[in-house]
Amino acid sequence: MRWSERQLAMLREMGIPPFWPQARADAEPGAPVAVAEVAQVATVAQVAQLAERTPPPVERPGRPTAAPTAVPSGGAAAALASRGVAPAPAPVVTISQPLTLDWPALRQAVQACQACGLSAGRTQTVFGVGHEQAHWMLVGEAPGEQEDRQGEPFVGRAGQLLDRMLHAVGLTRSEAGPEQQVYIANVIKCRPPANRNPQPAEVAQCAPYLARQLALVQPRIVLAMGRFAAQTLLKTDAPIGRLRGQVHRLDSGVPVIVTYHPAYLLRNPADKALVWDDLCLAREVMAQSPM
Ligand code: URA
Repeated sequence: MRWSERQLAMLREMGIPPFWPQARADAEPGAPVAVAEVAQVATVAQVAQLAERTPPPVERPGRPTAAPTAVPSGGAAAALASRGVAPAPAPVVTISQPLTLDWPALRQAVQACQACGLSAGRTQTVFGVGHEQAHWMLVGEAPGEQEDRQGEPFVGRAGQLLDRMLHAVGLTRSEAGPEQQVYIANVIKCRPPANRNPQPAEVAQCAPYLARQLALVQPRIVLAMGRFAAQTLLKTDAPIGRLRGQVHRLDSGVPVIVTYHPAYLLRNPADKALVWDDLCLAREVMAQSPM
């Protein structure tokens, strides 16, 4: 089957040359996917259990088991370091209860968080952005340099590619209704030094924040971008290649589609065609799922 003008336009939007070979031998991009037949392979993460479609409870604003404020973070730590004073290591504080904070309290809790060592090196936390009732929630890995500076996820080169991907499927991070405007969050809210991979303990410490964001947004679909997002949400160590192309579900039943991280696509542009397949699958799932 030849691709339609509309499909070709979408591919162009994503920077995918239309002459690229299709990733799946058995399916054209945009072809209907038999979602009902797609295997549900994932176990559900602890973080996902919190994302049930229940109305947000009336909250008692509070904070996770708080770390003392005496440990300087970000700019304060840098200022001390410039005077040759080594900051005390951040204490490890475990958030043992599922969070029940509302948006302002959750944002404040993240801002004040010193639950792991990443807090010492951040300029600021990167909470998340978008429509608070978005139908689509996108989950990335961790802030990079630009995000750490600006306090917003996906504002660097990977973010620009992400914007084009979103545009290709009629979504946006700009102001719009909840069907179109996405919510974007990362697994990790602070920049890892030199953009290294997040460590398991850091992921575990940060997971309750993402869980609460999922519970508050109550998205109709989650797009897990990259290995860390996929493995954290689905509580698996399966490689991303095995997780793609299927409809996973959180405990709440919210579908999760796994795709490659935009930063990976910058290094491996040929795989944009696979991401196109993933976006088509996600759109198909949305078309079939009840409002
Ligand atoms: N990569 C991510 O996973 N998240 C960001 O916010 C930026 C780059």
